[in-house]
Amino acid sequence: RAAAYAALRDVEPFTRDGTRITVMMNAGLRDDMPNLSLTGADGVGLFRTEFQFLVSATLPQRERQTRLYRDVLDAAGDKPVVFRTVDIGGDKVLPYLRHNNGEHEENPAMGWRALRVALEREGLLKVQARSLLEAAAGRTLNVMFPMVSEPWEFDAAKAVFESQRLYLKGQKKKLPEAVRYGAMLEVPALAEQLDVLAPQLSFLSIGTNDLTQFLFAADRSNPKLAERYDWLSPSIMRFLRRVLAGVAGHSVDVTVCGEMGGRRLEALALLGIGIRRLSITPASVGPIKELVRKVDLDQIGAAMSGWLLAPPPPSLRDALGQWAHERG
Ligand code: PEP
Ligand code: MG
Repeated sequence: RAAAYAALRDVEPFTRDGTRITVMMNAGLRDDMPNLSLTGADGVGLFRTEFQFLVSATLPQRERQTRLYRDVLDAAGDKPVVFRTVDIGGDKVLPYLRHNNGEHEENPAMGWRALRVALEREGLLKVQARSLLEAAAGRTLNVMFPMVSEPWEFDAAKAVFESQRLYLKGQKKKLPEAVRYGAMLEVPALAEQLDVLAPQLSFLSIGTNDLTQFLFAADRSNPKLAERYDWLSPSIMRFLRRVLAGVAGHSVDVTVCGEMGGRRLEALALLGIGIRRLSITPASVGPIKELVRKVDLDQIGAAMSGWLLAPPPPSLRDALGQWAHERG
């Protein structure tokens, strides 16, 4: 694997028409960080902080969290890291944290998880905020919140960070040079209020794993359903296109951080609707950078616009596959 990574490490993801696409990687542990230089990724677009909680026998205390975040930032050097606050609950259950008071949930994926837990257990979010702020002293902190469903949830989470920042300032602690706040778009309802939220955001990260599960009402962990609904469905592509339109005119960086961005045809389709930033699994970084170099954005943009008009082709996947095949 290291050899395959090395061959593509220095490939610069410019499209044929000269647009620089941002290709970042997803991570969750210290051990993931060497992949940043091995793959030549532009940064970590999604650092899943709950991994530390999942591999830990007890709730990670502030010192341990701070140490991890500092190590991650040190390992990233000049490259940006986007930390996502804990996304526990759903399929990620912590034995030592009865996050749902031990209540059985019929539908944990749409249950008491992620920011919903963090806003209720404010202590958890406070500790994480303080750890991240301290770890990023003197640097830029990029932080985003998972499963934001309504703008007030973003505001409430940001307020927890801002109050910790004030506290640290009062303590004469060294602060981050800048704090950039972002939201994950995973819950379709948020897309309907992007005009309200966009002015508050530095960036928006589209989590297409959860987003598609909610758009199709199809459990992402059920293999039968995974085969039934395609990421290259006009429903998803049209939805994402509307999301881009929803933040247009605001200075919001939009990234797709779901698994689909690491697949060739899916990445091609995303470029075709206007996505310019991807965060994907490290193994896909090289292959996707290579793909980017073959793409003419005007051509794929025009092709996608045509396909997304009514009626769409019977299979957008087949149409894209054919298109890519014809162009090598
Ligand atoms: C997503 O939902 O697309 C995402 C990136 O987050 P996770 O896979 O960790 O739920
Ligand atoms: Mg998610």
